Amino acid sequence: MAIATTSPVTGEVIKYFDEITPEQLESKLALAAASAATYRLTTVQERAGWLNNAADHLEEEAEVVSRLITKEMGKTLRAAREEVAKCVHGLRFYAAEGPRFLEDVPGNAKSVGAKRTFVTYQPIGVVLAVMPWNLPLWQAMRFAAPALMAGNVGLLKHASNVPQTALYMERLFHEAGFPDGVFQTLLISARRVEQVLRDDRVVAATLTGSEPAGRSVATIAGEEIKKVVLELGGSDPFIVMPSTDVDRATDVAVQARTLNNGQSCINGKRFFVHEDIADAFLEKFVAKMGALTVGDPMDDATDVGPLATESGRLDVEAYVDDAVSKGATALVGGHRLEGPGWFYPPTVLTGVTPEMKMYHEEVFGPVAQVWTVTSLEEALEIVNGHPYGLGSNLWSEDEAERELFVRDVQSGMAFINGNTTSYPEIPFGGVKRSGYGRELSDLGMREFMNAKTVWIGEDA
Ligand code: NAP
Repeated sequence: MAIATTSPVTGEVIKYFDEITPEQLESKLALAAASAATYRLTTVQERAGWLNNAADHLEEEAEVVSRLITKEMGKTLRAAREEVAKCVHGLRFYAAEGPRFLEDVPGNAKSVGAKRTFVTYQPIGVVLAVMPWNLPLWQAMRFAAPALMAGNVGLLKHASNVPQTALYMERLFHEAGFPDGVFQTLLISARRVEQVLRDDRVVAATLTGSEPAGRSVATIAGEEIKKVVLELGGSDPFIVMPSTDVDRATDVAVQARTLNNGQSCINGKRFFVHEDIADAFLEKFVAKMGALTVGDPMDDATDVGPLATESGRLDVEAYVDDAVSKGATALVGGHRLEGPGWFYPPTVLTGVTPEMKMYHEEVFGPVAQVWTVTSLEEALEIVNGHPYGLGSNLWSEDEAERELFVRDVQSGMAFINGNTTSYPEIPFGGVKRSGYGRELSDLGMREFMNAKTVWIGEDA
């Protein structure tokens, strides 16, 4: 894929970028390694200061950056502003809480025959981040803020369709005062990731993206014995039980499926509704999905912008066409919007069965699948039969149902009576084919740290 900013609204290329040359890549790797050797010795107070500077810069430039994000990947300007605000919060969160997360953790000295024992968390060096375009600033920031606070050095290989956002991040950390080389963007194609990951100067990698990309990076990292965190796809369930207010549940269901123009890993994608309220839910959900305004993402009146790429829209079309040809029904939407750009309307499907591709995979666009179930147990059986396990969502006022859901659902995150989302304060990640490892909170920070055991004996 060419590295370029292409307007999802018109389909026209706005600006091409050259990949860096092999010589430029070598200098960036050398700079990263040199930087890692000294940056690890900086104090947590210095790192926190630079993170706060980055937050201040980003806050000042928020409107320009939000417009850049919308221009490059088509999310609504409203959503882009929220994304930028979240990044500011994430930077400040790690500046404030990072020092606490990095404190030594004492152990029971007596039981191991020591005068003192503790675990000390130390940076590991240069970490490669391979990131997707869907939340182009937040995905990269949720790697960068904890990594830099930990004393690691970051190399960002961003998605090829968001080069300007990728370059902005490098500039942001530079202007915030971080030492040279602590955070660099590599304008390289996906096929050059292998070379970077096999380089001895790179010690670990994190990838957020599709299953094939994750498999490739994990295979290489496995061969090189390098730590890797994978945040992959999801087809999150959104389960609605009869004790729920249908108006509230449908409002959030619409938001869940259309957030980010339907291109979020943790969008509610499969809706399981109890039979007692299924008719009422479907009627309201279909009406609300059909009433959304699809159009120019820069316009404040727009609810859903275009899909980010042409191939992304072709994928969504293929999933819907396959399902409809095998008997599913589109109650609203179901066909691309004609005209320029990569618009696809909010769509609600019923009658999805295991013969259809979308039953087993992830549809990355505003397409909801709705099932009627007779119990929470039935919903959980279908949910747990799916290969993905990222987020999950239950709407219920019944305590026993909530307990069953938390205990049984096979997912990295379980949200009840509130939409699934990410916060720097709590861990984020999946199980099964949605990946492994955690981002955010103290857990995310420690993924790329050496938890060094220290044991000190009694003096002679
Ligand atoms: P993608 O094709 O996997 O791209 C993601 C990143 O991986 C890009 O930087 C891409 O570079 C790179 N890449 C692609 N193939 C690669 C390979 N074989 N080796 C190394 N790097 C490779 O993903 P996408 O389709 O753009 O993004 C959507 C996917 O990301 C969805 O499945 C979504 O659920 C997932 N996602 C997951 C999370 C999460 O936290 N779990 C969050 C957001 C998105 P190029 O752009 O140059 O190809």
